[in-house]
Amino acid sequence: MAEIIDRVEFSGIVKVRDAILKMDKPYRLESGEPSFDVPKHIKEAIVQALHDNHTHYVASAGIAPLRNAIVKKANQANAIPVQNANEVMVTNGGMHALYVIFRSLLEEGDEVLIPDPTWTCVQELIKLAGGVVKRVPLHEELGWRFDPAELRAAITPKTRAFMLNSPHNPTGGVLHRADLEQIAAIVSEHPHLAVVSDEAYEHVIYDGAEHVSLASLPGMYRQVISVFTMSKSYAMTGLRLGYILTPDALLMDRMAKVVLYTSNGVSSITQYGGIAALTGPQDCIAEFRTEYQARRDLFYAGIAGIPTLRGQVPQGAFYAFVKIADGWQAPDGRSDSWAMTEYLLKARVGSSPGVIFGPQGEGYVRFSTACVRSDLIGALHTMRELFAS
Ligand code: PLP
Repeated sequence: MAEIIDRVEFSGIVKVRDAILKMDKPYRLESGEPSFDVPKHIKEAIVQALHDNHTHYVASAGIAPLRNAIVKKANQANAIPVQNANEVMVTNGGMHALYVIFRSLLEEGDEVLIPDPTWTCVQELIKLAGGVVKRVPLHEELGWRFDPAELRAAITPKTRAFMLNSPHNPTGGVLHRADLEQIAAIVSEHPHLAVVSDEAYEHVIYDGAEHVSLASLPGMYRQVISVFTMSKSYAMTGLRLGYILTPDALLMDRMAKVVLYTSNGVSSITQYGGIAALTGPQDCIAEFRTEYQARRDLFYAGIAGIPTLRGQVPQGAFYAFVKIADGWQAPDGRSDSWAMTEYLLKARVGSSPGVIFGPQGEGYVRFSTACVRSDLIGALHTMRELFAS
C-alpha cells in the first residue's frame, strides 16, 4: 500500500503556488480559489453552533438536519430523486468525497475513464485507491466535449467507473441536457459501470445556461454517484464541506467505513454552516456568478489583444483554458505548456500548464479567473507587455 502512495504525485498547481507564494505581489491566476468571503449568515450559524456547544462527536456520515437539508436541495435544485438521508454522505469537501467513492468502489486494477484534460487531483485519487486511469479525450472543436464514438469504444469489461465533470475544470466546458442524454444512452448500455458526476461548479455557470445533473435524467440515479461541494458555491473552500448522493446501499455502507476511519466525519460547526448555506438566503450564488461572469469577460477582452493566447469563451467554472500560439518560444527555446507557465511566473503571473491536466492539455495554459479584478488587470497588462516584446 505504501508503494501505491509513492506512485501518487503532488499536484503541479501546488508547485506553481509554492513558487508564487515566495514572490512579492504576484498575480494569483494559478488556483481555483474564490476571492469572496463566506456569506455572513453562514459565518453566524457557525459561531452560534460554537456558542451552543455543538462541539462534540457527531454521526460520522453527517448530522441529520444537514443530511435532510441536502435531500431537499438535491430534489428541488438538482431534480435528483434522492429518497431520504440514508442516500447522503457528508464529507470533508469534494476532494474527500472523490477519495471515499473511489476507495469504496474500486478493486485493485479496475479501470476508471476520465476526461482528458481533467482536474489534476482526479487521476491521483484514482491511483491512491488502487485504480487505473484511462483517458478519453475532450475536443476543443466540439466545445470541449467527448466524441460519443470514442467514449463508447473506451468502455471495456474492465471499466468500473466513468468520471464526468460539468461545468468542467480546466476547460470551463458545460454539458447541456442533450449531451447528458447522449452520455446516459451510452452508459446505460453498461449497467456494471458507475458514473461519478463531479458537480463542484453547479452554480458557476454563465449566459443563462442551465446546470443539469446526470442523475436527474430518467433511470440514471441508480447508476450515478453525484458529488457536490460547498467550496465554490458558498466560497467555503477552507471550511471543507461536501457530499455524495447514491441510492446504492452497499456502496453507502462501504463509504461509511471509509469516512469513519479516515476522518470520523466533518467538523460539527462546519456542518451547521452547511445547513445555513443550503436553507438560508441564496443571494450569494447570483452575486458570485455575476461577478465571475464579469471577470471572465474582462479576461477574454484582455487576451483578445494578445495573439500568443487564444481560447473559446467558457460557459462555466472560473477558468480560461487558452491555447498557446504556434511558433511561440520561451527565451530558452522551449515552447511547451510548462515553458509558458515558467515564463509567466518570472513576470509574477500565476498560471497552470495545460499538460498537468492530461496529455490533451499540452499546448494550453490555464488561468483562474476567480481572483480579484486587480489581479486579472495586472496580469493582462503584464502579459500584453511580455508578448509585445
Ligand atoms: N472537483 C473539481 C472539478 C474541482 O476543481 C475541485 C476543486 O478545485 C473539487 C472537486 C474539490 O473541491 P473541494 O475539495 O474544495 O470541495
